Amino acid sequence: MEFNVAQLMKEATGASREYELDDDITDLDGGLTPLGKLTGNLVLLRIHSGVLATGDLRVALSLQCGRCLEPVCVRVSVEFSESFRPLTDIQTGRFLSPEEFEGQAEDLTDEALLIDAQHILDISEVVRQNIWLSVPIVAACDYTDPVSGSADPDACPKYIQLLSESALADTFGKQTPSEAEGIDPRWEALLALQDEPRSE
Ligand SMILES: [Zn+2]
Repeated sequence: MEFNVAQLMKEATGASREYELDDDITDLDGGLTPLGKLTGNLVLLRIHSGVLATGDLRVALSLQCGRCLEPVCVRVSVEFSESFRPLTDIQTGRFLSPEEFEGQAEDLTDEALLIDAQHILDISEVVRQNIWLSVPIVAACDYTDPVSGSADPDACPKYIQLLSESALADTFGKQTPSEAEGIDPRWEALLALQDEPRSE
């Protein structure tokens, strides 16, 4: 996810480039399991302090259902708008001192937002951070609330089945403990003997 912005940096404020992304992000973050490529649209806009990168991206991730722990596919959208600053002056190649930077103070200290000396702008770290921001706190099996668009873990079919099974077990609570454990009732008499305190 690297872009050479040498030409763009030479252009006037307002100049822009648009890219369609279709990137493999398997190695982006060890904690993420992408199920497909990162796709979408990236606009690089020449601004006074450097380049404003605006991304509207999507990726499908494998997450764990918050109820049954089965893997589920969750599509996340990754939207960001970050200004990158050049490390060197595009005309002279001279390293720019922080005092020369015109922009937000927080952008100045963020190494992820530097355009390097070879004029490469790398959005990887910005994308990585924004994917994590888009990952739902609780993922859930194949049910998404049509209104909120967020997944409802309590709608997990396996979870509902588990709940109804435990409700059934409560209703028919007359089972002997051995029946519940799947022990042949014919052995139960022997087991009862085994449990009796032995006379020394
Ligand atoms: Zn589930």
